Amino acid sequence: MWEGLGYYSRARNLHAAAQMIVDDYGGRLPEDVAGLMKLKGVGRYTAGAIASIAFGRPVPVLDGNVIRVFSRLLDLKEDVTKTQTKNYLWQVAGDLVPEHRAGDYNQALMELGQTVCQPATPHCHLCPISRYCLAWTKGTQLERPVRPPRRKIPHYDVCAGVIWREDGRILIAQRPLEGLLGGLWEFPGGKLQAGETRADALRREIKEELGLEIVVGRPLVTIKHTYTHFRISLHAYHAQYVSGKPQNIEVANHAWVRLDDLDQYPFAVTDQKIIKRLLDEKGVFQSSILPSLAVTS
Ligand code: SF4
Repeated sequence: MWEGLGYYSRARNLHAAAQMIVDDYGGRLPEDVAGLMKLKGVGRYTAGAIASIAFGRPVPVLDGNVIRVFSRLLDLKEDVTKTQTKNYLWQVAGDLVPEHRAGDYNQALMELGQTVCQPATPHCHLCPISRYCLAWTKGTQLERPVRPPRRKIPHYDVCAGVIWREDGRILIAQRPLEGLLGGLWEFPGGKLQAGETRADALRREIKEELGLEIVVGRPLVTIKHTYTHFRISLHAYHAQYVSGKPQNIEVANHAWVRLDDLDQYPFAVTDQKIIKRLLDEKGVFQSSILPSLAVTS
């Protein structure tokens, strides 16, 4: 299992927010920013967008596009990732938002950033606000907004096992409900530790997460994937169940399933690619996988 931010927690936040609207707000969405921000998963930007676009409230929005427009308009030299700068931009955005048609104004501003004031190619000659733009006057458009230099995102090698039982069923595990890809199903495995072979890592992870002994067989596929804060190479291997009763030690749940039943479980995109490879190989491996499980490196 590898750690990170919970992208799929959005769906659970949406459910919790809907529940809150029913329980605490009599089934009606709050119309003001403060009320909206009490809903799970709703931040200042989302609250501003809903309040202005859905309810016509004169409140600002500040997304990446709007930050770029304002930082160029003001020729802002401060780092826009800093809280102090963001607070300043929220204040500027709030001062400029009109009393009427705030939703249209906010949407126009976001679209201006998306279509005209683009990051690498701002179309200043087409821009309706160019005469107010300090960066346009000074020629500093491409230097704004100021951000700290990007850090190189780390890369991890991760192993996953398609663990077969003698009756032809495969073991799948549900990830813990909180955290990266929370609640989705996967072929169990995890990150390689320093000095480990992939087979060693897979055996260790399966023991730690589910309490099982396995034999690692031939490689199935390697999937490369980039998340927000890191990249992985996911090496999937066929494996064979040897002994032990599966326990949910570091997983939320597990199931022994037939290949044809995998589509009944929600899998992360990386594991969907493993399933695709399994289905592509179906005709070949169903007759040969179990006898051909020689231990790999
Ligand atoms: S003039 Fe250029 S830099 Fe300034 S807001 Fe318009 S597109 Fe952006």
